[in-house]
Amino acid sequence: MAAVEFETVIGLEVHAQLVTKSKVFCSCPAVYGGEPNAQTCPVCLGLPGALPVLNEEAVSMAILMGLATGCRIAPRSVFARKNYFYPDCPKNYQISMYDKPLCEEGRLEFELDGEIHGVALERIHLEEDAGKLIHAEEGGSLVDFNRCGVPLIEIVSKPEIRSPEEASRYLVSLRQVLRYLGICDGNMEEGSLRCDVNISLRRPGEPLGTKTEIKNLNSFKAVEMGIRFEIERQAGVLRSGGRIEQVTNLWDSGQKKLLTMRSKEYAHDYRYFPEPDLLPLDVDGAWIEKMRGALPELPLAREKRFREKYNLPAYDAGVLCAERGLADYYETVVSAGSDPKLAAHWVMREILEEIKSGAESEGASAPAMRAVESSVSDAFAFRAPVAAGRLAELIALVSGGVISNSAGREIFKEMVRTAESPDTIREKLNLTQVSGAKELEQWVADVIAESPDEVARYRGGKTQLLGFFVGQVMKKSAGKANPKLAGEIVKKMLEG
Ligand SMILES: [Zn+2]
Repeated sequence: MAAVEFETVIGLEVHAQLVTKSKVFCSCPAVYGGEPNAQTCPVCLGLPGALPVLNEEAVSMAILMGLATGCRIAPRSVFARKNYFYPDCPKNYQISMYDKPLCEEGRLEFELDGEIHGVALERIHLEEDAGKLIHAEEGGSLVDFNRCGVPLIEIVSKPEIRSPEEASRYLVSLRQVLRYLGICDGNMEEGSLRCDVNISLRRPGEPLGTKTEIKNLNSFKAVEMGIRFEIERQAGVLRSGGRIEQVTNLWDSGQKKLLTMRSKEYAHDYRYFPEPDLLPLDVDGAWIEKMRGALPELPLAREKRFREKYNLPAYDAGVLCAERGLADYYETVVSAGSDPKLAAHWVMREILEEIKSGAESEGASAPAMRAVESSVSDAFAFRAPVAAGRLAELIALVSGGVISNSAGREIFKEMVRTAESPDTIREKLNLTQVSGAKELEQWVADVIAESPDEVARYRGGKTQLLGFFVGQVMKKSAGKANPKLAGEIVKKMLEG
């Protein structure tokens, strides 16, 4: 292998919108969507004399994320003014945290290529979101202040990420943890999860190089592609003996390329100072312990438990634990008496397939619908097409030999359509598995009579054709034959 020419050093700053009922410093609703500028008041419009009041729920959610990532929760943190002028920010400053953040020194662990990776977190702090500019096609720009004052946490990693793939995995698992905690819906398209990337290159052994920033990365794919482009660009400059300028690049998702924007501000350009309208934020031990008690089992631990307790392959455990609601559903099926492996099979194949095909047929109108109806509980709900108890009943019918596997799949489709019990459907569709020797023997005899070539090859030693015969019997019986018994009869008739 060739020596590494450059080492890549990547740090991520992730902004996550918290799903509180109201905004972080006023009582306006914090939900997405809604008539432009309808969810505003003097505080979030920055009118003179209006004073912020801190939302306790937002602090609790930030503490929860801090605890989930092993951060130290500061007993006292301080809000600070970050001054900048931009039309999306009516106060001309954003209330954020600067040198005394709420959470410090954490770590996020995730799996990449079968190994556990850990990325250290520098800090997690609480701040307010800005409004949204809408650039009208007919010229001019409009501003919607509904988003102004929606609570954000900013999660800042240390520059420990070494590749585009690792950056993307880090972000996927950060999103997963946020959703497990139920504090951010992680919707990158709607901007409730946003990611800025810092990148620098260095020759091995040399000090850190000048870093550049990429903003506007609105999907996991954009994060990977943007980083890859920027690595190539910086390597090109360095190879030709040039110097890296400190710039901000914007990711253009339409053209899939980076646009270099402006030289980056330094922290001192923001003239941070402690926010005079808010007291320091004191968090006592009781508050922290209360939030610790509210921590759910986190994805990585849950995956490990699924592998060990249910004896599932790593892949299956990963799929089933991708969402907390899905993992809960799976465990409800198992606790209703289903064999864990069979339950995994049915949930991953039938349930997830059904959800996927349902989402596809809903089509392009789905996001708009969601915007109107969006509410906190909606964002995290796992809507199973079939109740867990009912799926367990179906699995019991299959594993007990009452119905065949293929009849089970047919009944499943009918359960989704009618919400009837599997037993009712089995009777209605007459799908009880046939295990009677007389009927099975007739089907097998018919198949043998219709397949002289296969019979000759089977008798000539090609016994793998057993599956073919059983398949034909299943077809002839409309899925009702007991495949195991049918196989035994085929053997007996062809070999006896
Ligand atoms: Zn307001």
